[in-house]
Amino acid sequence: MTVKDEPGFRDSVDLMFSRAVRLMDLSPGLEQKIRVCNSTYTVRFGVRLRGKIETFTGYRSVHSEHMEPVKGGIRFALSVSQDEVEALAALMTYKCALVETPFGGSKGGLCINPRDWDEHELEQITRRFAYELIKRDLIHPAQNVPAPDMGTGEREMAWIADQYARMNTTDINAKACVTGKPPHAGGIQGRVEATGRGVQFALREFFRHPDDVSRARLAGGLEGKRIIVQGFGNVGYHAAKFLSEEDGALITAIIEHDGALVDPRGLNVEEVKQWVLRQGGVKGFPGATFVAEGSRVLEYECDILIPAAMEGVLHKGNAAAVKAPLIIEAANGPTTFGADEILRQKGCVIIPDLYANAGGVTVSYFEWVKNLSHIRFGRMQRRAEEARSRLLVEELERLSADKGLGWTMARDFKDKFLTGSDELALVRSGLDDTMRTAYQSMREIWRGRDEVEDLRTSAYIVAIDRVAKTYRSKGL
Ligand code: NAD
Repeated sequence: MTVKDEPGFRDSVDLMFSRAVRLMDLSPGLEQKIRVCNSTYTVRFGVRLRGKIETFTGYRSVHSEHMEPVKGGIRFALSVSQDEVEALAALMTYKCALVETPFGGSKGGLCINPRDWDEHELEQITRRFAYELIKRDLIHPAQNVPAPDMGTGEREMAWIADQYARMNTTDINAKACVTGKPPHAGGIQGRVEATGRGVQFALREFFRHPDDVSRARLAGGLEGKRIIVQGFGNVGYHAAKFLSEEDGALITAIIEHDGALVDPRGLNVEEVKQWVLRQGGVKGFPGATFVAEGSRVLEYECDILIPAAMEGVLHKGNAAAVKAPLIIEAANGPTTFGADEILRQKGCVIIPDLYANAGGVTVSYFEWVKNLSHIRFGRMQRRAEEARSRLLVEELERLSADKGLGWTMARDFKDKFLTGSDELALVRSGLDDTMRTAYQSMREIWRGRDEVEDLRTSAYIVAIDRVAKTYRSKGL
């Protein structure tokens, strides 16, 4: 995907790290300690499938153990390599620090095209991969907690959790060994949508700051903004759905692996999703223009570009042609270091990956806490909260009747006020708070220090500073 003279993914992350470190006061030794990847485990294992033994290669990389457990998704894709998992593990370290989830950074991957195998075969492969990682404590509630990423979801996480439980029959915290599980298998409400929801909350927070919006040569709110989304999987679909259905934005193009759909009036996200589920791609969707060379659509006119597929899609070869004044990186590493420089010089504002897609790890953190506490969020408080609200409403109604004031509360207000927060409401509230707080910590540096030109550098500065403080407090 990247142009030949560009550095690889891990080098690209390192260059971004170095750009931030140059503006910090860090000893060279500590800088190097934070930068390097602690370890990467490579495993090759065989599974008997369709009458013969198939060999698979997988990785689990641990970038930083300044906090444990370390956290990071497991990706199933043919592109998986040591360079890729190490880059993604480093991003996890910085992401967790930025949004203050108490984890170090890790990432895993299996070189496989999930579409090549049926469900039963995938279960055998996933369980075997999990077995290899569990027996080396590379999946463990206190040491290393994976989550979904490209090509994996709730189903794979449930298999991994079950595999861990089978191998650790007396571990009362077994469910906390992995997050992103389905609700019936120890998951949490709102995890599937979390990364896309986080993208929505990040954009809402950005648009709360008119100064920042004008830096991107935009004005007003999200209503009517033209958005192009690349990658219509978990992250891209949810981001597009929430932004169009709840914020009034127009999804003017969706780019998928088989091409792109374009409609300046705005695509119906749910209808496109149903089509993709049935057809396996966007091609043939009625009522929109189909562009076979999907990546070209990254260069179309729009207000906001959301790369939500994979790394390296904005590179030196196309960055100059990108017209979006605002890019929010829902995917990890979609912009190469070279493209980042070009886009910055053009005045494009980039909301960086380590912040933009942190919704997933944030809600994973809530799930992990839920598993360790063995109780659903809201279970103790919800009815007590409702009872207090009811007392207040009844008292106000009694006063109004006593004084003959004739006040009545709007039905809608009363219903909302009398409904206590369930798990989903609490998860969304915690996620919203996290995205707002993290944005403000980046913004403070971006707008407060002249030498910091962009949000990515400020995000790295906030994150590296926090990791450095943890290492220093350990005596390093
Ligand atoms: P996914 O597998 O659910 O979806 C990826 C989508 O991108 C698929 O629909 C695929 O067909 C499409 N795609 C693949 N190649 C493409 C191409 N060349 N052009 C356009 N579309 C293409 O994966 P996901 O979980 O949505 O992850 C997407 C990105 O978000 C990854 O970079 C991942 O690391 C990042 N991310 C995911 C999560 C999460 O919670 N799932 C959290 C943080 C970051």
